[in-house]
Amino acid sequence: MSSSIRLINHLYYRRRFLQLSLLATGLAWACSAPKKQSPPGKVLVIGAGIAGLAAARKLQSQGGIVTVLEGRDRLGGRIFTDRSLGLPVDLGASWIHGVKRNPIAKLARDFQLTTLPTNYESLKLFLDGQVLSPDAVKKGRKLSEKILNAATSWGNKQDEDVALDAGIQRILAKKQFSALEQQLIEWWLDAEVVGDLALDLEQLSLHEWQEGKDFAGDDYLFPDGYDQIIAKLAVDLDIHLEEKVVEIKYGNEEVVVTTEKNSFSAAAAIITLPLGVLKSNTVQFEPPLPPAKQQAIKRLAVGLLNKVVLLFPQQFWDRQEIIGSISYKPTNFSYFLNYAHYQDAPVLIGITGGSYARRIEGLPEPELVAQIMEDLRKIYGQAIPNPQAILKTKWATDTFAYGSYSASLPVGATSKERDILAQPVDNLLFFAGEATSCNYPGTVHGAFLSGVQAALKAGGRRQKAPRN
Ligand SMILES: Cc1cc2nc3c(=O)[nH]c(=O)nc-3n(C[C@H](O)[C@H](O)[C@H](O)COP(=O)(O)OP(=O)(O)OC[C@H]3O[C@@H](n4cnc5c(N)ncnc54)[C@H](O)[C@@H]3O)c2cc1C
Repeated sequence: MSSSIRLINHLYYRRRFLQLSLLATGLAWACSAPKKQSPPGKVLVIGAGIAGLAAARKLQSQGGIVTVLEGRDRLGGRIFTDRSLGLPVDLGASWIHGVKRNPIAKLARDFQLTTLPTNYESLKLFLDGQVLSPDAVKKGRKLSEKILNAATSWGNKQDEDVALDAGIQRILAKKQFSALEQQLIEWWLDAEVVGDLALDLEQLSLHEWQEGKDFAGDDYLFPDGYDQIIAKLAVDLDIHLEEKVVEIKYGNEEVVVTTEKNSFSAAAAIITLPLGVLKSNTVQFEPPLPPAKQQAIKRLAVGLLNKVVLLFPQQFWDRQEIIGSISYKPTNFSYFLNYAHYQDAPVLIGITGGSYARRIEGLPEPELVAQIMEDLRKIYGQAIPNPQAILKTKWATDTFAYGSYSASLPVGATSKERDILAQPVDNLLFFAGEATSCNYPGTVHGAFLSGVQAALKAGGRRQKAPRN
């Protein structure tokens, strides 16, 4: 999970107040610990995203023979740096969320990669083109925090889980707010909660929306591209691109993986297919996965975060890192990341989650640009130019992802489902990927750690003596 919006979310909610309340109520689910290591034999790793590469490296370092099968024609999965505009822009993950003790921050240091912090406090928020005072913005944040706190503590007293929105509406109905206060509350909820957790307030579980932990420290991004981490992790691994897996057969101490082109067999497989792909049933398991795992796949949800990258002929905005925009239309980007702060180029990146993210996937480009420019012209005047180039992500319809990440739980689901998703099947199939991480779902570091953990489990599995 994450962006400049996410940054705000993480900063104020997940890292500080949400996480504290989680710990206090003891709701965090204990992840199962990996067993001891031993050489794992031949293993197939499905997916060359961060989880798959982390698993493959770990297995290889334990003496395992590893083959990685990746369906796309590139590495990295939901870490994807585009360079078609003449500069590196991350269309998937951007940030290392919380650099203290974060394994991705350690990799960045080990690989000597440049990272830059994002200062979320440099937010400038506009209401229909007029800048709001820092005091008004802070007040809006405090109000939204209080409402979320009150809704959550009411929800925790209810036996049955309901949507976060139902809890919020219950609190709002008891209070009187000015029109400005209401708009500020809505903006903060959209930017911080929906923009971070990538599900609408109507979908998020009131009991579980704060699940997970965060690393301390600031959020840093890679001005030269997140994919540098991927390229370094992939060195010396046996990776086959454009091998789209369609079937995984397991039994008799063997796993046979069929792709659209070939067939591969091994003593075990580590499966890092995104939750969206598992939900889509485009990969058949033979025999079918155990009912509890199928149920977990059904109950967990994949959220949607999309980005629009706008390259302008020149920079017409000022220095703040985040430009927030409240408009009277429900269809607008609640904020833009000023990418000129990190790269010497006049680029703004709009980031949006939930239903609006879904809507923009189907929106023709001229219509989307017109909507964005209407908002930006209210702030910066009619004379500002249109973008000369634009990139739009479509993570929901990406057939190798079917969504952005599973940062939070929908109504009725619990973190236990993530643990079930992570459980090995018959000591042959091992599972990793961001959705299997109960501590850090929806993040690069969560996916990375899950890959290492799956490799340790696969390495520690009981191996029978070879037949003569
Ligand atoms: C827009 C966006 C912004 C984000 N921002 C952040 C952020 O700032 N910070 C952060 O920490 N996280 C962020 N995330 C989340 C982060 O990118 C993911 O949690 C993480 O990259 C997931 O890694 P993974 O290895 O679990 O999955 P993936 O990276 O999706 O890897 C799975 C691999 O499996 C492959 N695959 C799929 N189907 C098949 C098949 N049938 N056969 C073979 N291969 C297949 C895929 O192509 C992919 O390469 C963001 C994600 C998105 C989409």
